[in-house]
Amino acid sequence: MALMTANEYIESLRKLNTRVYMFGEKIDNWVDHPMIRPSINCVAMTYALAQDPQYAELMTVKSSLTGHTVNRFTHLHQSTEDLINKVKMQRLLGQKTASCFQRCVGMDAFNAVYSSTYEIDEKHGTHYHENFKKFLTFVQDNDLTVDGAMTDPKGDRSKSPSQQADPDMYVHVVERRADGIVVCGAKCHQTGSINSHWHIFMPTIAMGEADKDWAVSFACPTDAEGMYMIYGRQSCDTRKLEEGADIDVGNAKFGGQEALVVLDHVFIPNEYIFLNGEYEFAGMIVERFAGYHRQSYGGCKVGVGDVVIGAAALAAEYNGVEKASAVKDKLIEMTHLNETLYCCGIACSSQGAPTKAGNYQIDLLLANVCKQNVTRFPYEIVRLAEDIAGGLMVTMPSQKDFNSDTVVGRNGETIGEICNKFFAAREGVSTEDRQRILRFLENMCLGAAAVGYRTESLHGAGSPQAQRIMIARQGNIQGKKQFAKDIAGIV
Ligand code: SF4
Ligand code: FE
Repeated sequence: MALMTANEYIESLRKLNTRVYMFGEKIDNWVDHPMIRPSINCVAMTYALAQDPQYAELMTVKSSLTGHTVNRFTHLHQSTEDLINKVKMQRLLGQKTASCFQRCVGMDAFNAVYSSTYEIDEKHGTHYHENFKKFLTFVQDNDLTVDGAMTDPKGDRSKSPSQQADPDMYVHVVERRADGIVVCGAKCHQTGSINSHWHIFMPTIAMGEADKDWAVSFACPTDAEGMYMIYGRQSCDTRKLEEGADIDVGNAKFGGQEALVVLDHVFIPNEYIFLNGEYEFAGMIVERFAGYHRQSYGGCKVGVGDVVIGAAALAAEYNGVEKASAVKDKLIEMTHLNETLYCCGIACSSQGAPTKAGNYQIDLLLANVCKQNVTRFPYEIVRLAEDIAGGLMVTMPSQKDFNSDTVVGRNGETIGEICNKFFAAREGVSTEDRQRILRFLENMCLGAAAVGYRTESLHGAGSPQAQRIMIARQGNIQGKKQFAKDIAGIV
């Protein structure tokens, strides 16, 4: 099948019986819901750019499974060049949406599960790799969006899955049948879950023998019987429900999406199972998926950063201060920080190596360093953007005020006229453009999009401590000690 267009993707979502809840109610037409639609538009951009000849090389690639042209978001990386192109593609998408475009979690899950299932089969004689290849061929042929679901609720963090008072704190097998398994549990803050056609579930931590029933990975359709989602709200999200508030929303076209995904006795046929009790491989899947997703942040957050820097530069221009050396210096600092993140994304990709299964994996140490920097630099970039933008970003009256013809002044001036008079930009720039860029920055720095640019930079793909554990493991302190000993003459 050919690649889907953006519109075909949106229409394909309508055909699913996905169960979505928000504000305590079931949302039937969630595809057109004003709070959800921007996040759908964002995923749709991964389809739209793949149709655009100028981005064909970045967005599409020959499948290693079928030889057909597929969207890179469904691809198994075959070289370091593929890994680098992945990061470049993510930067492009970040530039075009200024949001989390969600489709990467599936791509990262494909690559992690592909290589892990190969090694599980090698040890246990299972058939998970074949299952996975068949599934991925189906995904590629139909150009599907798949959610990579990893993060369990985790309950009492001091206890392993099998020690939890409530066994549902981690996704687990509750019944084994001849034709498949029945699973229960949930995954928290799942990026793009509702907008995906299918899900791949993976364990979220390394496990021991007692946790066998929790060591499970599988694919299932998003509208599987027993599966439902509760939408995660975002800062200022209800502005999207206000009539005529496109300026106040900040980014009315695009947005990210997270949800709580619940599995209430969902049946998974054997052919969609990729791990079922081989507990010693749970950690491998986690480490590989996390590594790929930490690489991803060296692309997507950089693209979004490009837009934040551009918006800050525009705010300065509209205020007439773009030539001030202090402003120029802040923009240089923002660019330096943003490009440093990109360097990390490119570096961990260029140092990638083939797995036993043949697809390429990033350099894990460098990918973790990349993400560790992402937990910090966007915060500084946002601080500088707010510095340049000025306080008006958070004190400006609403769009309704700017449009109001209610008379307020002695000489019959309306609220709209007063707002436009006092919040005028420099000559030659409309007040509306100034409003737009400041609201956009508000959205990026502390509104709905800040979910994707700030807090997700901190906690997405693992919180900072998770990377520090990996850095400690991969940092080779012993080897470094030896360098020092050799030169210092210590035997
Ligand atoms: Fe993709 Fe970035 Fe969103 Fe993760 S946070 S899904 S890498 S856009
Ligand atoms: Fe993320």
